[in-house]
Amino acid sequence: MKTGDDYRQSLRDGRSLFIEGERVDDPATHPLLKTAVDNCAANYDLYYSPEPGAHNPAYIIPRSKEEAEARLARLIGPAEIAATTSATCVLALGSAAPELAKARPEYRTRIYDFIDYVRTNDLRCAETVTDAKGNRKLRPLEQDDPDMYLRVVDRNADGIFVTGCKMHITVAATVHELVVFPTKAMKKGEEAYAVSFSVPVNTPGVTIINTSYAPYDADARHFPVSSKTNSPEGFVVFDNVFVPNDRIFLDGEVEHASDLAYALGLWERTGGGGIYASEGEDRLVGLAVLAAEAAGIADEPGIRDKLSTLMMFATMNKAGHDAAWSNAVQNEDGNLMPSTLYISATKYYHAEFNDRMVDILHDIAGALVANAPNMADYDHPKLRGILDTLLTTPTMSAENRLKLYHYIRDTTADAYGGWSSVTGKQAGGGLFAQRLVTIRNYDIEHAKELARKAVGITG
Ligand SMILES: Cc1cc2nc3c(=O)[nH]c(=O)nc-3n(C[C@H](O)[C@H](O)[C@H](O)COP(=O)(O)OP(=O)(O)OC[C@H]3O[C@@H](n4cnc5c(N)ncnc54)[C@H](O)[C@@H]3O)c2cc1C
Repeated sequence: MKTGDDYRQSLRDGRSLFIEGERVDDPATHPLLKTAVDNCAANYDLYYSPEPGAHNPAYIIPRSKEEAEARLARLIGPAEIAATTSATCVLALGSAAPELAKARPEYRTRIYDFIDYVRTNDLRCAETVTDAKGNRKLRPLEQDDPDMYLRVVDRNADGIFVTGCKMHITVAATVHELVVFPTKAMKKGEEAYAVSFSVPVNTPGVTIINTSYAPYDADARHFPVSSKTNSPEGFVVFDNVFVPNDRIFLDGEVEHASDLAYALGLWERTGGGGIYASEGEDRLVGLAVLAAEAAGIADEPGIRDKLSTLMMFATMNKAGHDAAWSNAVQNEDGNLMPSTLYISATKYYHAEFNDRMVDILHDIAGALVANAPNMADYDHPKLRGILDTLLTTPTMSAENRLKLYHYIRDTTADAYGGWSSVTGKQAGGGLFAQRLVTIRNYDIEHAKELARKAVGITG
């Protein structure tokens, strides 16, 4: 296994990275990329073991609900994203493997060889899925530019060459492998677009244009979460990139593009959603209760109503994820997959209502969310006494109240908050994708049968 320093060193491999108009040679030292690298390095150190066969828990492919829960509990400890994206790639490949084997048996062998390779070499992966897509209503071949969806542009006996761009790819700049999945189902004639593979980030022809919500503010107390938990998203440009045969998991079998796209979507929604359900919503309730108590209004009937709405939201999210695991299915290879229906419905429910829950928190917490003086003001000897007088309440000191409000602003109304609001709706496909998957997986015939029986319609 790698240590954190081994990992840092491994990123100095000539990869072509850009951020804010500049080329970056070493992401470990760049102010906007460094935190993601440090968090990933901390995860390496946390799980490092010199024992032969030891590996990061991200690479556990669960075969039971208990294994799945134990795995998730280990993954959500450190504030680290690359382990989650790596896990999502591996789990999605493992879920799709038996179906892909129906197209070509070697796809399954290559997938398990690849999983073994990244697990043994302790490498991290990025979920490289979302195409540029151009005009959303046009199919890949109907676009003015045929590269709006990544495609195979050439081939030889040893492999294929691909061109296109995958957008918004989380931690692409700070991992080792770009695991490429088709963005959606493909049709006959779109064989060049039905392609899945993995290549190292430093492969010639790969360029990554990065963006990050990492705050510039030198005082981390103003951005208590986003200063410690931030990660880059990148446009990953592929310009005639060579992929060797043993790293190709799909090449032209259009009827199987959806196996990969749906499997990735399922695990992406499960990974993110699982984390929200385990902590995020309960923390939102806690923030609202603390703010209400500090303002002396926690026992007001109107506030209690609002708090109960937050509590129901938190509880229903947990219930949805529990149901997804209780209705999990095993594929032919024994790999467990949570219920697609429950995961998509729960992800949709979270995405649809999360901003409304944040509104409730802001309503209860008041204008201090936006206007709390910063901690440097509180440090100033002339201002501290004034702020103590204005902000101290029977349940909370002025200092803790400022900390509480900076946390609320950063996570719901500023850097991390903006990122997470958009991510909650978009990651794992937008709301449209959750609706589509729900309609596909819901037992409509059963529902109709129940209605027919109730009404007394026969025949
Ligand atoms: C912070 C963040 C991190 C992300 N990380 C990753 C990552 O690691 N890997 C990755 O692959 N992706 C990632 N994504 C991308 C994410 O998966 C996409 O944003 C999501 O799938 C939606 O795609 P889109 O943004 O292109 O929106 P679109 O699909 O363009 O949707 C925009 C709107 O257009 C509508 N629309 C789309 N198609 C049609 C149509 N044919 N007809 C009518 N209406 C249509 C939609 O319903 C929606 O209302 C990330 C996104 C964010 C915000």
